[in-house]
Amino acid sequence: MNQQFNEQWSSILKDIKKELVPTSYYAVKDSKIHAIQSNTMTISVVSEFVRNKIMDAFMPVFLFTIKKQFPTIENIEFVVEEPKEKNSVPDTDYNQAYERTSYLSNPESVESLPLNPRYIFDNFIVGSNNQLAYAGCKSITSDLGKVYNPLFLYGGVGLGKTHLLQAIAHECNKNGNKNIVYITSEQFLNQVVHSIQVNTVDKFRENIRRVDYLIIDDIQFLVGKERTQEELFHTFNALYDQKKQIAISSDRPQNELKGIQERLISRFSMGLTVDIYPPDYETRLAILRNKDKSEQYDLPDDVLDFIASQKFNNIRQLEGSLIRVASYSSMQNIENVTVEFAKETLKNFLPMSYKKFTPEEIKVIVADFYNTKPQMLESKRRSKDVTVPRQVAIYLIREMTNYSLPVIGRYFGGRDHSTIIHSYEKIKGEMKTDMKLKNEVEEIIKKLQYSS
Ligand code: ADP
Ligand code: MG
Repeated sequence: MNQQFNEQWSSILKDIKKELVPTSYYAVKDSKIHAIQSNTMTISVVSEFVRNKIMDAFMPVFLFTIKKQFPTIENIEFVVEEPKEKNSVPDTDYNQAYERTSYLSNPESVESLPLNPRYIFDNFIVGSNNQLAYAGCKSITSDLGKVYNPLFLYGGVGLGKTHLLQAIAHECNKNGNKNIVYITSEQFLNQVVHSIQVNTVDKFRENIRRVDYLIIDDIQFLVGKERTQEELFHTFNALYDQKKQIAISSDRPQNELKGIQERLISRFSMGLTVDIYPPDYETRLAILRNKDKSEQYDLPDDVLDFIASQKFNNIRQLEGSLIRVASYSSMQNIENVTVEFAKETLKNFLPMSYKKFTPEEIKVIVADFYNTKPQMLESKRRSKDVTVPRQVAIYLIREMTNYSLPVIGRYFGGRDHSTIIHSYEKIKGEMKTDMKLKNEVEEIIKKLQYSS
């Protein structure tokens, strides 16, 4: 990499740092430009894990920041170049720790990871999917260790676990509580392994048992890590006996944490267990509106509505889509952002690809849902038991495929394009007020997704 790229890359990393949580940034900070060829940039990363992490969650951020320095870049590719020292360390726990994180600043002390200032309770949108989790996390910010101990929070990727755990830490800091430690279980493992290697296990134990509030994120990473689990078990007991508060997050419930010792699982279940589900449409919209406002994107309502109506089961991706639309429109100086523009910009990022289903498949699932036959949807019959399914099928085909109106018409016994657009608009309009219809359409989409 030449000198000029070096400087540009540092400035890209600086921008990326502003966008990511500190732990995520640490994971990507050793990436480098490997090559640039026409409109493709190849980035070298230190592990598969980092590459997957970027591809999963940070592509919009990477693309956006890279484009600021290299406007012609359209694609990003990765090569994995693992650090050489890794091979000289035989211990497998240690290898994994090294691969995933190379940011142990001061291994002897037990320090909290830096908190993301955005992850506070005030920035957390409460919906039916997360209200219990929210209430549970709030409740353990006062009367530490007395009300519910431990708190066990579980839910899928990108649903706000880290946000809530860090909000607890922020809140407790604000309340003047001392010695709050927020760490990921990876970091816990790193510290355990390091202390074994350099013979400071006693010191480590002494330090961690002095903590007043221990928050451990992503406990599932300890699956199969026997030695670290052993250490955690003793840490847990020591803190619990002293009535110190413990909070833990996991991407799955206790009984699915196969590979974690039974005795730990039973400790995790002693206090309050709360879960987070994927957000519903209203919560997705509220999250987008909130972000749109705080970031001053000022995107029109119908664009926010379009993004919210996509079935994102991951809020990071939901927010990522918003950032992508906002940044692409600003890069191209587009003032009036339309739903069309958003659709085009997000076409490869939406949870359900528009090209995935054929009209036939959609017709079969819709007919089945309404207890009728696909042929009935093509027929001229106008009784309500056929017109509603027909219109729903037309609506979904228009939404989920790239077929033109006349072509869609052909799938419905040669109806003309104005009938198709009328059916589409009718269902679209009615779904805003008719909750039964809206639920039906959502059910059908779910069935389609499961069928694929
Ligand atoms: P997890 O730890 O469960 O994988 P995160 O806590 O990292 O998920 O959340 C992913 C992103 O979504 C973060 O930017 C977070 O701020 C945001 N987020 C999640 N839930 C909410 C919510 N209810 N309100 C606002 N933002 C949220
Ligand atoms: Mg997390």
